[in-house]
Amino acid sequence: MTDASNGVVVTGAARGIGRAIAELYAERGWRVLSADLSLPPNLRGQRRVKADVSTAAGRERIVRAAREMGGVQVLVNNAAFQGAHGSVLDVSERGWARTLNVNLTAPLLLTRALVDLLPRGAAVVNVASVQGLFAEPGNAAYNASKGGLVNLTRAMALDLAPHGLRVNAVAPGAISTEAVLQSITESDDPEQTRQDYEDLHALRRLGTPREVAQVVYFLGSEEAAFMTGAIVPVDGGMTASFMMAGRPV
Ligand code: NAD
Repeated sequence: MTDASNGVVVTGAARGIGRAIAELYAERGWRVLSADLSLPPNLRGQRRVKADVSTAAGRERIVRAAREMGGVQVLVNNAAFQGAHGSVLDVSERGWARTLNVNLTAPLLLTRALVDLLPRGAAVVNVASVQGLFAEPGNAAYNASKGGLVNLTRAMALDLAPHGLRVNAVAPGAISTEAVLQSITESDDPEQTRQDYEDLHALRRLGTPREVAQVVYFLGSEEAAFMTGAIVPVDGGMTASFMMAGRPV
C-alpha cells in the first residue's frame, strides 16, 4: 500500500535490517526519518538524524526531526547493541547496562517521547529476536534485553490500545546482515560456520534483511489492523522445533 502522506521513524537505520526497513518504506513512497549513531545513507524521500537512542538528547533530536517531517504513522524500534557477549557469570556490568539501555529502555522512552506525534491508527513495531524467545549460552545481556523487549511489546500493546495505537514485534532468526556475514567470514572455518547458521533454520538458509523488512512493513500497515501485542517470528522455522529445525538425530 503506497501512501506518500505517511511518515515512518526507523532507528538503527544506517545498516543491516534497519537500513532495509528504511529502504522499503522509501521505495513505497513514505517519508522516512532514519536515526542512527552514524549518519544513515541518503535515500530518496528520507531525512536523517544522528542520534543515540539511549540518551535523552538523542531521543529529543529524533522527536524534533519527526515533528518537522509532519508526523509519524509508524515507529520502528530497531537499533540494538549486540557487543556485550558473556555468560551470566562473566558479562560486565557496563556491557549489561549498555545492552539493556539501548535494546530495552530506549524503545520504551522513544515511544513515550513520540506518542504525541502518533495519531490514532498509528503503529509501533519493535525488532526483537528469536533470542528474546529462547536463550543462547554466553549471551546473557542480549538474551535478557530481547526477552524484555518481547514482553514490553505486550505491555505497550495493552497500555497504548486506549490511544488507538497498535504495538507488535518481529523475532528474526539469523539474518544475512553485514555484521553476520562478517562474523562468518572471520571465523576459523567460514564454510562450516555458514552451514551451522543455515542448519539452525528449517528452511536451511539465512534470512535476508528485506524479508524482515517486509514483515515489519505489514505489521505497521492497515493490513494488520487487528494485530497488537503479537510477536511474529521471521526465522525460517527456527522456533518451530524444540530441537532447532527438527534436524534428525
Ligand atoms: P546491526 O548491528 O547491523 O545494525 C544496528 C544499527 O543500530 C547500527 O547501524 C548501529 O549503529 C545502530 N545503533 C546501535 N546502537 C544505537 C544507538 N544507541 N542509537 C542509535 N542507533 C544505534 O544490526 P542488525 O543485525 O541489522 O540488527 C537490527 C535489529 O535486528 C537489532 O534489533 C537486532 O537485535 C535484531 N536482530 C538481528 C538479527 C541478525 O541476524 N542480524 C537477528 C535477530 C534480531
